[in-house]
Amino acid sequence: MDSPSVAVVLVGLNPTPALLSSLTLPADRIVLLCSDGTRSLAERVAAALERLAPDRSARVMGVGPDPHDPVGVGVALERIHRDHGVAPRHLDYTGGTKVMSVAAALHRAPATGAPGLRCHYLDPTSDLLRPVDAADPALPIADGGVDLGVLADVHGAHWLEDRDPAPVRAALRGGARALRETFPGLHPTEVRGVVNEAEVLRHLRRITRGRGDIEVLGPRRVADPRHPADSIADFDALVRIRHRVLCVEVKSGPEEVVARAGWTVAKARRVFGNVAKVLFVHTGPPVPGLRERISDHSPALSSSNVQAWSLRDLRERLTDAEALRRAFFPGQAGPGSGPHTRTAPPTASSAPSAASFPPRAVPSAPPTAPCAAATAPICAVTATGPAPILVTALGSSRLGLLSAVHAHRPARALLISSRQGVRSGVREAAARALYAAEHPGAPLPDTAGLRESGHRDRIRFAADPVDGFDAGAVADAARAWIDGVRAEDPERPVVVDVTTGTKAMSLGLALAARRSGACIACLVVRDRTVVCLAHGGTAAQGRAVVDWALVLDGYAPLVGPLSDAVCPQGAAQIDVPLVAAAADHLARAASGPVGVWADRSLADPATASTARERSAVVLTFDDRAVGLVAPSWRRPGRSGVVRGVSRGAWAQSVSAATGHLNLRCDVAGKVMALSRPGGDVGRAGELVAWITHDEPDDDGGGDWGFGDPQRPVLVVADPAAPPALWNTDVSVL
Ligand SMILES: [Zn+2]
Repeated sequence: MDSPSVAVVLVGLNPTPALLSSLTLPADRIVLLCSDGTRSLAERVAAALERLAPDRSARVMGVGPDPHDPVGVGVALERIHRDHGVAPRHLDYTGGTKVMSVAAALHRAPATGAPGLRCHYLDPTSDLLRPVDAADPALPIADGGVDLGVLADVHGAHWLEDRDPAPVRAALRGGARALRETFPGLHPTEVRGVVNEAEVLRHLRRITRGRGDIEVLGPRRVADPRHPADSIADFDALVRIRHRVLCVEVKSGPEEVVARAGWTVAKARRVFGNVAKVLFVHTGPPVPGLRERISDHSPALSSSNVQAWSLRDLRERLTDAEALRRAFFPGQAGPGSGPHTRTAPPTASSAPSAASFPPRAVPSAPPTAPCAAATAPICAVTATGPAPILVTALGSSRLGLLSAVHAHRPARALLISSRQGVRSGVREAAARALYAAEHPGAPLPDTAGLRESGHRDRIRFAADPVDGFDAGAVADAARAWIDGVRAEDPERPVVVDVTTGTKAMSLGLALAARRSGACIACLVVRDRTVVCLAHGGTAAQGRAVVDWALVLDGYAPLVGPLSDAVCPQGAAQIDVPLVAAAADHLARAASGPVGVWADRSLADPATASTARERSAVVLTFDDRAVGLVAPSWRRPGRSGVVRGVSRGAWAQSVSAATGHLNLRCDVAGKVMALSRPGGDVGRAGELVAWITHDEPDDDGGGDWGFGDPQRPVLVVADPAAPPALWNTDVSVL
């Protein structure tokens, strides 16, 4: 009997890639590797696999409570080897933390710089499992049997009712007249809303009729885990093409679209994973610039994940299923690309990837070549020695990069960026962070000064951007550069920092480090430490000098009182005196320097109408940032009449503002959501807990800190009686 083929799949907070990889990898035993925090997600994936792929076994294994502990990963992999009697053959490292990914891929890896297992990464743009080794074929995703119910289920979401609601059914049957006859009590506004929903749904169903790979569901409400009879989120219509999901929101006017976009994307991702997209359909004529206003509102809401169309556009442009696929999922193979089966993985020549990803040259060093590598005897992270050479990646948050430059104080640094990375201004900011780390307390030089001191020259970008999903290409680029500087300066230690960039970029850097005998470092922001994965050591990082003007896109230093920086439209959206009081107290309580930044859009009547979905003020304390959010409990509606805000709508604003700060500051940011006494902030706690797969915080925010950026601190406060929490010295957190 053949020995079993075992695949290890890492599970993070988005379980969709784990499910798809488990269905795709050529293995008959799947081990879902999780931390304590993601165990329930891993168990749901295992249960789904039992139904979808009864021919393969699935079990869950934990690495312990700390997903940043490489030792726990090694112990788990040894146990998998022992339990199955063979070494695992495949690894999908798409999920889990950076440390989990790198530690698993390098487990028992030879010193040649090849990974210990066959490593795969789910490339969301092409729907391929991309291999690290250029000689391995890319595997087209197998998603047979994966429908909207399965996707929601692995995310722990369940519909309150598994069919279209009665009013929508009536409108589908006989339009407004049937709806009014069946539900005579409905307000005319509600009738219009339901009729519009039914119209969108009817159109989507008509153009996708007969397509077995497309599923369309009408309005669905997601059961609230804490109040099972109520819903925590709802969708107007859902379209699935293979495993991809488009959440359709029907709005009666375009004005509602911009302000709703943040929450809508958050709930879509929570229920269907990070690749879910959102389409707003509004009645009335198309609105020029609406799409741009959504991006201005939050750069996270790019046109690739949020679209806004008029109902007329929808009818005219989406005339058939292919038009639908091309408009929203252009990277996906269309019909006729073959059955989606998980038997017989394709060969390299038959894989549809061959055309879009020409095979890379296999690295020239033969795997058996004698290697100078092994791990260097002295750790470049924890030992005090000469300044190292640093190689790191530029990710979506530029803060991590600046922290890495600060932590390692490199003699020279190479920054590798993908096409997605934003390079503008980064080199100078990194040079300045380096100067500041070497000259604590000294005034910071300008651009000319950085050139003169040589700091600018010490930071380099790799000449060509890399494919952020191709670990092998990143490894090749990093290795070539390390070899080059080693030839000039053989004694200097080398460190790669894997904290930022995509997972594939991190793994590529780690593989290059392995081959070059370099240390592999990862920053743990929560306690400002740096872990060396090669030597197992931990070093304290100190505090980076951050160019906040670069990080806090959309904010300007606040000079003078906050009320002077807010136009009347902005003042209607947020509680300005409450934010000002909190900022004032927190700034005074700080023992270190404080930066005060105000949301620029507050001053502009054209953009201030959505200010409640952003931090009004951001306070910066060295390398950390606190965003102050205080959505008003009463605000003018479209008609101009001031109305009360529901606790759910208030909570959604807080959730959107949290995502907004998170995009800029990642783990270094924390939102403090403020309400006056009488405001019900409890719903915000529940909503946030749901979005983050967590338990609501019951301690009232008494004890708070950094490292958990998705969870705002909720504070009920009266400026006249400031709470003790405002006396927190954030400088020491
Ligand atoms: Zn080390």
